[in-house]
Amino acid sequence: MWASVILDSTCVVCRTPGAHLCSTCRSGVAEGERPRLVLDGVPVYALGWYTGTLRDVIRAAKNFRSRAVLRTVAPEVRNLTASLPPQPAVPIPPSRAGFRRRGYGLAPMIARMLGRPVLKVLRLRDAGTQQGRSAAERTRQRTMTARQPRVSRVILVDDVLTTGASMRAAIGALSSVNCEVVAIVVLAVVPSRGAPHSICT
Ligand SMILES: [Zn+2]
Repeated sequence: MWASVILDSTCVVCRTPGAHLCSTCRSGVAEGERPRLVLDGVPVYALGWYTGTLRDVIRAAKNFRSRAVLRTVAPEVRNLTASLPPQPAVPIPPSRAGFRRRGYGLAPMIARMLGRPVLKVLRLRDAGTQQGRSAAERTRQRTMTARQPRVSRVILVDDVLTTGASMRAAIGALSSVNCEVVAIVVLAVVPSRGAPHSICT
């Protein structure tokens, strides 16, 4: 039965029949460059840049039928924070539209891969109606609230770091309940010229 399940799959990146992610594409993710960044003084741990194979994997994982592809990179995700103290992981909540479409969020899946407690203490708070607002306005309006976690230091987790707006909202919400974000974990970072995050040297 397992054989037929495996044979029915194809690599989400190169379409080779077999596993969700073939060994060639998997090593592309495993051996890719790990971006070294800080966002507002908080170190960012990422599997890679949001390009090529890793971008294809993340795009596929947003499709319900292909979400198992994320599990193929779980060892690398777990390794990202292997050197850090065992603070709990706090996933950024999925957007309501994304959750409605998919029925799951990527950030909680990634948080569970880190092998540490997962605390879902963040909530999105949409200010007023979103209709008729531009995307930039919606982003500004989207803020987060946090329930008091039982710890004072946590690791923040999301799938992709783009502008850093969600991270900053989460850091602010956690700070308001006296909880410090000591590290950020994402699968990928979008390369950006007007970088909101600075590159460590
Ligand atoms: Zn492949």
